[in-house]
Amino acid sequence: MSASLNARIAQVFDEPGCDVNQTKGEKARKKGCTKQLTPGAAAGGCAFDGAKIALQPIADVAHLVHGPIACEGNSWDNRHSASSGPTIYRTGFTTDIDEFDVVYGGEKRLFKAIREIAETVRPPAIFVYQTCVPAMIGDDIEAVCKRASERFGLPVVPVDVPGFAGPKNLGNKLGAEALLDHVIGTVEPEVSTPYDINVIGEYNLSGELWQVKPLLDALGVRVLACITGDGRYREIASAHRARANMMVCSKSMINVATRMQQRWGIPYFEGSFYGIADMSRTLRDIARLLVQTGAPADIVDRAEALIAAEEPRAYERLRAYRERLAGKRVLLITGGVKSWSVVSALQEAGLEIVGTSVKKSTKEDKQRIQEIMGDDAHMIEDLAPREMYRMLREARADIMLSGGRSQFVALKARMPWMDINQERHHAFAGYEGIVTMVAEIDKAIFNPVWQQVRAPAPWEAPAVALAA
Ligand code: SF4
Repeated sequence: MSASLNARIAQVFDEPGCDVNQTKGEKARKKGCTKQLTPGAAAGGCAFDGAKIALQPIADVAHLVHGPIACEGNSWDNRHSASSGPTIYRTGFTTDIDEFDVVYGGEKRLFKAIREIAETVRPPAIFVYQTCVPAMIGDDIEAVCKRASERFGLPVVPVDVPGFAGPKNLGNKLGAEALLDHVIGTVEPEVSTPYDINVIGEYNLSGELWQVKPLLDALGVRVLACITGDGRYREIASAHRARANMMVCSKSMINVATRMQQRWGIPYFEGSFYGIADMSRTLRDIARLLVQTGAPADIVDRAEALIAAEEPRAYERLRAYRERLAGKRVLLITGGVKSWSVVSALQEAGLEIVGTSVKKSTKEDKQRIQEIMGDDAHMIEDLAPREMYRMLREARADIMLSGGRSQFVALKARMPWMDINQERHHAFAGYEGIVTMVAEIDKAIFNPVWQQVRAPAPWEAPAVALAA
């Protein structure tokens, strides 16, 4: 690994906003959170993949992957991060290097690819992603990007995060480092108001940001930049003029929040858009933080008025589902990230949580789950698929909410399953999203297909009849 990449990784591991890192000794901190992968095991995404996931939602940028075709094929648009305008982010650009480039070097090919994009697509910026093979043959993407930027007169941003640097979550943070090093603070906004905030770590999956934006508009709060969902290059480049930062509950980009506080004195808080209570808390926190940074104090009253109008409406819409879903048991496997905010959202719908995974949760996350669930908090560190299957087969849960990879465990146990992770097709944020989430759970549990799949197979039935 190059010296600069090593230095960036060390910086990310020494994150003041991450309580896991801060509780470690210096030696353990240097090792980071990366677990040695077992050969042959599914690794769940490399660092390059993580950087691409974090940055690809910037919708007007051309994302160029320098590497063999499979790296881009593996990472292209595998989430439903929506854009309200440009669609260039969904075009897969890659240098598609081959054996000749491995022998002679891939820098010329990269420069040509940047030229082609600059001349034909004319995006406001090009992000160039490093991958394993060109990193190992020594292609210097930082130098190529610098030269191309001068030559073609547009920002060409190196994202030097080859897959072998570590796992996906490290890649999220290293991708964010590229924004801190090359993008944020490079453009001044046309206007600036005391109500400007940035939303960090929100990827607008299935359009979730759009469920929250009308609430912020009603409050008179402007999202100067969403980093990175439905993002625009210039907005993110001018994000340093916001008065407050909200870090959405996933900690994938905590380094952006802490570094912006250090560099520009922008305070941040961690909030969630999931569930009625958490959405209201977030609106209150935004108003409080803006007042602290100089906004007129009446925004606090406006936030209360907005909450007073929205909460009863959402509870009323949930009421019909609460009766049908009362006592239904949920097994929640989110991998730990965001589990506390989903737990509180499910409880609002009257669902009972029989277990929630905390594999990737921080100590703080676990404390929050404990606060929300009290003595009923069944936190599962690591649930093997066999155990998941047994829980569902013995009907200890009525539905499993998880990511796509474990859906087949539920389906094999003939139990309903709903996608709660990044690949989901429905938006679950804000007062609107919790109603959608509960409606989708209701549809999954009461789908008539379960009666059919749980009935004895035709070849089993006659045997029973004969025996009778
Ligand atoms: S591990 Fe390396 S080669 Fe594989 S997808 Fe990631 S960057 Fe590409």
